[in-house]
Amino acid sequence: MQLLRLELRGFKSFADKTIVKFSPGMTAIVGPNGSGKSNITDAMRWVLGESNVRNLRGQRSEDVIFAGTEKRKPVSTAEVTLVFDNSDGQLPVERAEVAVTRRLYRTGESEFFINKQACRLKDIHLLLADTGLGKDSMAIIGQNRVDAILNSKPEERRLIFEEVAGIARFKLNKEEALRR
Ligand code: ATP
Ligand code: MG
Repeated sequence: MQLLRLELRGFKSFADKTIVKFSPGMTAIVGPNGSGKSNITDAMRWVLGESNVRNLRGQRSEDVIFAGTEKRKPVSTAEVTLVFDNSDGQLPVERAEVAVTRRLYRTGESEFFINKQACRLKDIHLLLADTGLGKDSMAIIGQNRVDAILNSKPEERRLIFEEVAGIARFKLNKEEALRR
């Protein structure tokens, strides 16, 4: 499954709408210190459901919203969309492209969308469970994560194996069924 593009608007340093295209063969994002490279991976993690703001290098949820600069006013909304190529049908959605969107307002309200249809964060987790892209997956490994994995307890490490083995989706479904 290929990532096609990432669209950011009002997310961290990306005040204006910015589209990052992931063409085949692209292997690196380079740029000067502070230019926003890590903000791009933060945006991917955020749209995939990261709920711990510290993992996004912030203190409060609204720290992901463009806070303004000397020349520019802050904005009121952060929005990120990640678009996947689903032509191989790996995601259980009958569309060749699947877009996952997360939006946060300064009021604290947040919204999630799959292909522009409003959904719950849980639906995004379910969509991506077992693809290797879900929350806590190994697809994005932060600089601090390597140590955390090496030092993790067996129970924590088991969750990683469950995601890789493809049973995370069933666990999520079971939890939800038991709550009803
Ligand atoms: P390095 O090479 O040092 O790792 P980088 O390219 O990864 O740099 P980032 O950490 O992605 O850089 O970007 C940091 C910049 O993003 C800083 O200038 C910071 O002020 C800006 N920034 C972070 N959050 C916000 C926000 N909410 N509003 C505006 N700017 C922000
Ligand atoms: Mg960085």
